[in-house]
Amino acid sequence: MSLTTVHTVADLRATVADWRAQGLRVALVPTMGALHDGHISLTHLAREHADRVIVSIFVNPTQFGPNEDFGAYPRTLPDDQKLLDAAGVELCFAPSVEEMYPDGFATKVSVDGAMTNVLCGASRPGHFDGVAQIVTKLLLQSLPDCAIFGQKDYQQLMVIRRFAADLNIPVDIIGAKILREEDGLAMSSRNRYLLPEERAVAPTLNRVLADITAQAAKGAALAPLLAKGREDILAAGFAPIDYLEVRDAETLELVNDTVKKPARIFVAARLGKARLIDNHAIIPGGSAA
Ligand code: AMP
Repeated sequence: MSLTTVHTVADLRATVADWRAQGLRVALVPTMGALHDGHISLTHLAREHADRVIVSIFVNPTQFGPNEDFGAYPRTLPDDQKLLDAAGVELCFAPSVEEMYPDGFATKVSVDGAMTNVLCGASRPGHFDGVAQIVTKLLLQSLPDCAIFGQKDYQQLMVIRRFAADLNIPVDIIGAKILREEDGLAMSSRNRYLLPEERAVAPTLNRVLADITAQAAKGAALAPLLAKGREDILAAGFAPIDYLEVRDAETLELVNDTVKKPARIFVAARLGKARLIDNHAIIPGGSAA
């Protein structure tokens, strides 16, 4: 079955209704396009959970701040379609901004509390309101059995789990592990912004996170590890660092002292035109993941 692309909610719903009538299970993988192997790994995981896989491609304006890269964000639909076809994806949903936000659109979805005021929520005000708004729409438009999201955007995954549970959206939210380049850099559409000399130092982020994770898992005090990590990231040419923090893996509460429960180390830092994010799991007493 080769890839079909639809651009309207009506066509998306008609296709899903047809699959439902055949008793097929459906998975959704929301993306902003400029697809790479990390996205494709999500479609493979989707395939393990469903008979039919939908990938949405939509650069959502409401999750970008006024001075962010909405205009510059890479839009590569023909290339994306080739990759999706080769990956065996059945349906690409690529709506226009007008299709998603027609005249008169007035509804916000907002997750309050500790989960959205920290990390990217602090450095990108309003970002998670935009994410919650668009993912709610995509889930209700397609009503899949499950939807796949990468742990690359771990805070986003937690926010989505929160509102999907709070709003009783009947979709299983499944997290997927981070896919990395051979040198450890987390794959990202924004890596395309990096100049060659920036690309060469970009893996520093992963290396610093791995070093801190290994020490923190053995019970080392976090403050000196984080101070050294910041120095290394700045020395590599990143500036500014938006955050380098260890937080509880479930609640995202700050961990200040030592890691005693499953935690996660998070980083966001700018390198040239790119704002890069990454994170690692810290399992106390266990091996790094
Ligand atoms: P984006 O197109 O950046 O909005 O990402 C779409 C989905 O792909 C999100 O669920 C991301 O977390 C996920 N994703 C992006 N990069 C990676 C990666 N390197 N590994 C795994 N998932 C990823």
